[in-house]
Amino acid sequence: MDARIAIVGAGPAGALLAYLLSSRGVDTLLIERQSDFAREFRGEILQPSGIRALEASGIRLDVLRTARPRFFEAYLRGRCFFSVEVDDPEALIPTAVSQPHLLEHLVERGQATGHLEFLRGTALRGLEPRDAGFEMRLLESGRDSEARRRVPFVIGADGRASLVRKRIAPRVVTRSTPLDIVWFKLPLPDAWKVAPRGRFEMGGGHLLISVNSPDDQLQTAWVIIKGTYGALRKRSPAEWAEEMAAHADPELAEHILLHRDSMRSPFLLNAVTDRVVGWTAPGALLIGDAAHTMSPVGGQGINLALRDAIVAANELVPALRSGGDLDTAAARVESLRAREIDRVQRIAAVPPRIVMGTTAAHAIARRGLAMLGRLSRFGAIREGIGRNPVLSALLDGVTEVHLEV
Ligand SMILES: Cc1cc2nc3c(=O)[nH]c(=O)nc-3n(C[C@H](O)[C@H](O)[C@H](O)COP(=O)(O)OP(=O)(O)OC[C@H]3O[C@@H](n4cnc5c(N)ncnc54)[C@H](O)[C@@H]3O)c2cc1C
Repeated sequence: MDARIAIVGAGPAGALLAYLLSSRGVDTLLIERQSDFAREFRGEILQPSGIRALEASGIRLDVLRTARPRFFEAYLRGRCFFSVEVDDPEALIPTAVSQPHLLEHLVERGQATGHLEFLRGTALRGLEPRDAGFEMRLLESGRDSEARRRVPFVIGADGRASLVRKRIAPRVVTRSTPLDIVWFKLPLPDAWKVAPRGRFEMGGGHLLISVNSPDDQLQTAWVIIKGTYGALRKRSPAEWAEEMAAHADPELAEHILLHRDSMRSPFLLNAVTDRVVGWTAPGALLIGDAAHTMSPVGGQGINLALRDAIVAANELVPALRSGGDLDTAAARVESLRAREIDRVQRIAAVPPRIVMGTTAAHAIARRGLAMLGRLSRFGAIREGIGRNPVLSALLDGVTEVHLEV
C-alpha cells in the first residue's frame, strides 16, 4: 500500500487517528515500536470528554474492558470527608478503560477497512525530508538492519519522548510539575469487588489514589514530591508499603500491609508537563503527548489525545479528499486545540500545590477543601460544585470537539 499518511505511535492519539483516516478511505501507515500494547505504560481513566470522543468515532465502551466506579471518595489524614455514590448506570462518569484492549480494538477496526497497514514491533529510528515528504528509517524488532519508507506526510503521535518532535519542533515550553508517581497494582479488596470505587487520600505531603482497574486489580498511584524517589529506592518495596500505609485510611492501610509482598511491578513515573509551540513543519504534524505532554494530575492525557485525533481527522480528511494543501490543514489543528491544552495544563498545576504543599497556608487550603467536601452533602452546595468551571473543564473539556467527517 502506498500510504498517504504515516502515523508514528499507536497510543490513543495515533490509533484513533489511524482508525478515523482509514475508515474514511485514506491509505494510512501506522508504526508502533511495541509488539504488545501492554508493554507501554499508560493511565487508564477516561473522562466523559474522552468517552464522548470514542463514542463519536463509533467506539462503544460496552465492547471494551472497563471498570466503572460506583463510589468516589476523598480522605484527609485517613478520614473520609467526601463520598458520592453514582447509582445511575447511564451517567457518564470517569471510567477506567483497558488501554491495551482499546488500542487493539482500534487497530483491528482500522485494518478491517483495508486502508490501514499496521507495523507492530517497528520503531522509527530516523526521519529525513525527501521531495515533498519524508523518508523514515524503520527498525523491526529482532532485525539488525533498518528499512526505509517514503511518505508524503508524517504524524508524530509517539508520546512524551517523541522522535518526530525532536526532528521538527524547535520550541517547547515546560511547566514545573513538582511530583513523581510510584505506580503499582495490588489484589483487589473484597469490598471493592462488590462496589468499585475511586479513592483519593491526602495528608502529610502525600497523595494516594486507588481505583479498580479493568483487569480486576487495585491500581494505586502514590504521588510523591519530585526528587524524593532516590531515598525511597534505597528501601525495600515492603518498607515503601509501610510508608504508604501511613498515609492511607485504616481499611486500605491494612490491605496494603497484608499484600505488601505481592505488590505488582512498582515503578516510578517521572511526571512532565510541556507544550510544543508550532506542532507542524512542512509534511508533518504532532498530536497527543508528542505535542503536549500531560501531567497525570486530573487524568487528562488520554482524553486530550483522543480529542486531538478527532480535530486532526476533521482538518486532514477534507484536504486529502479534495487534494487541498495538507500543511495548511494541519496548521489549523494546533490553533483549534491550543486553548484547551493550555487551560487544562494550568488547572492540573494547582492540586499538587494544595495537596502536597508543606506550608501552613497549604494545610489551611486542605482543611478548606475537606470542609467543602463535607458540606457537599447539602444539595445546593453539591450543585454549585457540579457547575464549577474547573471541574467541568476536567470532565467535559474546554472547547467543543465534534467529529465532522
Ligand atoms: C502516571 C501517569 C498516569 C496517567 N494517568 C492517566 C489517566 O488516568 N488518564 C489519562 O487520560 N491520562 C493519564 N496519563 C497521561 C496519558 O497516559 C498520556 O497523556 C497518553 O497516553 C498520551 O497518549 P498518546 O497517544 O499521545 O501517547 P502514548 O500513549 O505515549 O503513545 C505513544 C506511542 O508511541 C510509541 N512510540 C514511541 N516512540 C516510537 C518510535 N520511535 N517508533 C514507533 N513507535 C513509537 C510508543 O510505544 C507508544 O505506544 C497518565 C500519565 C502518567 C505518567
